[in-house]
Amino acid sequence: MSKKATDPVCGMEVDVEDPPATYEYEGKTYYFCAPGCKKQFEENPEEYVE
Ligand SMILES: [Zn+2]
Repeated sequence: MSKKATDPVCGMEVDVEDPPATYEYEGKTYYFCAPGCKKQFEENPEEYVE
């Protein structure tokens, strides 16, 4: 059984044990389904973080 996180960009579930992309922002790790989602987050993190 693996843990899941939600990709904040597209809302997809991501396996946290083998994530396609991760990014640390303000001390929190975010998980992404693809490098493209990570890139979108990097460019405008405030849009995706509450
Ligand atoms: Zn995504």
